[in-house]
Amino acid sequence: MIISMRPHASKVEIEHVCERIREFGYKVHSIEGEERVVIGVVGVGDVTACLESLEATPGVESAVRISAPYKFVSREFKREHSTIHVSGLEVGGEEFIVMAGPCSVENEKQIMETAEGVAAAGARMLRGGAFKPRTSPYDFQGLELEGLKLLRKAKEATGLAIITEVMSDRDVEMVAEYADCMQVGARNVQNFSLLKCLGACNRPVLLKRGLSCTVKELLMSAEYIVAHGNPNVILCERGIRTFETATRNTCDIAAIPVLNELTHLPVILDPSHATGKRSLVPAISRAGVAVGADGLIVEVHPCPEKAISDGAQSLTLSDFRKMMRDLQPYIELWKEARFQAAVAMA
Ligand code: PEP
Ligand code: MN
Repeated sequence: MIISMRPHASKVEIEHVCERIREFGYKVHSIEGEERVVIGVVGVGDVTACLESLEATPGVESAVRISAPYKFVSREFKREHSTIHVSGLEVGGEEFIVMAGPCSVENEKQIMETAEGVAAAGARMLRGGAFKPRTSPYDFQGLELEGLKLLRKAKEATGLAIITEVMSDRDVEMVAEYADCMQVGARNVQNFSLLKCLGACNRPVLLKRGLSCTVKELLMSAEYIVAHGNPNVILCERGIRTFETATRNTCDIAAIPVLNELTHLPVILDPSHATGKRSLVPAISRAGVAVGADGLIVEVHPCPEKAISDGAQSLTLSDFRKMMRDLQPYIELWKEARFQAAVAMA
């Protein structure tokens, strides 16, 4: 169940509602929004009796039963698609948002050249890892704070919003100082302690699906962040591990419309990690636009053959320009579909 209190309900009313919920044998999980308090009710008890009682309790605006185990992120809780504000941009809104940049921030020249190139081609956000989750401990682990400072410089030069990965609880505060959106990588999708920290952080979060993470597990991880106080979560399909070896991962394109049925959160696609091959990125990006993703996160490098990480799947700047041009007619259709969906919802 989710109980929405009236805007500006008093502390006494809220405490009374929580008390009633506990009397029915449930646990209370409340989130304080800017306007109102929303209370998640979890546990086992007499749902019907509890709902009836709460609907008649002062200060309560609505009480709804949510059957999914993920409560706050479910479509049952919120019918309209959510829009997440990232430094003046709206992810999940009327614009198809493309985030682009290198796998890793390597040096000033590389990140500035990439930022300027992707901005000119129509990207709205700059990606680039300063903390890198690498399979081998002997591989490049990222420039860390120096990388974050270079991202800030690139933002100042281009106006692009910054998205970068945070790998550990202890870095959340530092990364949040530089990032407009905090990326949780595939390997950390079930790092619950990190998710709780991000719940307490006021930056939007991009949560990537794990290599062997089901759609339900992804939604439960998103629920962690929201239940701990941060409603600004964007989901990302980035391919999963299967028996197939022709691509680096198997792009689960169906996960995007599946997620759109189950959650109100925006969903984007990472065609680079989903395929691992530069030549496949434009086709899979088109697929992402066609199935209604809210945007893309694409790896781009000025000289992929020299990239420290993920060169094989990185587009050159001219590949990226071409892909953005070629995507335009698809994005026009996407806009039309978005508009029709908004009309149908109104
Ligand atoms: C990345 O974005 O560079 C990355 C490491 O992605 P993922 O966590 O999806 O593997
Ligand atoms: Mn990468």
